[in-house]
Amino acid sequence: MSTQNPADQFIQRDDPSVYETQEPVLYAVKDGIATVTMNRPGFNNAQNSQMTYALDAAFRRAVDDDEVRVIVLCGEGKHFSAGHDIGTPGRDVNKSFDRAHLWWDHTNKPGAEFNYAREQEVYLGMCRRWHDIPKPTVAMVQGACVAGGLMLAWVCDLIIASEDAFFQDPVVRMGIPGVEYFAHVHELNPRIAKEFLFLGERMTADRAYQMGMVNRVVPRAQLAEEVQTIATRLASQPRMGLALTKQVINRVEDLQGLRATMDMAYGYHHLAHAHGQLLGAGHLGGHDAKSMVAANKNDATDKNA
Ligand code: ZN
Repeated sequence: MSTQNPADQFIQRDDPSVYETQEPVLYAVKDGIATVTMNRPGFNNAQNSQMTYALDAAFRRAVDDDEVRVIVLCGEGKHFSAGHDIGTPGRDVNKSFDRAHLWWDHTNKPGAEFNYAREQEVYLGMCRRWHDIPKPTVAMVQGACVAGGLMLAWVCDLIIASEDAFFQDPVVRMGIPGVEYFAHVHELNPRIAKEFLFLGERMTADRAYQMGMVNRVVPRAQLAEEVQTIATRLASQPRMGLALTKQVINRVEDLQGLRATMDMAYGYHHLAHAHGQLLGAGHLGGHDAKSMVAANKNDATDKNA
């Protein structure tokens, strides 16, 4: 009789990822401003783990450098970020990295533990860590800011968007109640957050501005200049004054329930991933990058009909 626990049967997963670049994030410092650039324009800056770890390293570098007073996060190419990588050749969910937190390696874990540990590290954990960077951060958003892209914009202190930017969290279509860093009801009032999530539609930059989710909206041609102007003004403020102000406001957000909301939502999020797997549809509810793009196109067609 076998006494082996099925849970001990670690799943051997191959890592088929092929990176198109060794520089998924670019880093530059000028006049006290560190510019951190997501650099997978061929894939609309989809975030694989290679990128999230490179972002984490870039932010740490910016924090450690006394010359850096402010950090700008931007995306190379047409779009800020299409979200988490769910379908490029560089999708590397089965790869191990030198982790930033104390959760254990996910790659040899069975059942729901695989995704729970992985997303705790590369999504929820890293986003919370970046939200609390003691230096001011500015997101410069053009084009798509979708799902995982929202998380990166939301962790920044200020969001400056171009007129063509749009914001969207379409993951309810996958059966999932929003992305891992569940700040929706803090970035938007609850009724708008429900509309945003239930319908999964694109929110224009103009409406995001009206809802208080972005600070400024400017024509695309002026986006970099506007961000530069704001970053330069931030860079002239005292470091400690900015750090303390940021901490106060972030702690107020936590007192308003941000951290507890995200902890709760993270559990629901992983019930959804596990539910999809129990149904045999996979943790994305039977969807992949292609089917999500197709569904988005259908929605747009329906609306124009
Ligand atoms: Zn997830």
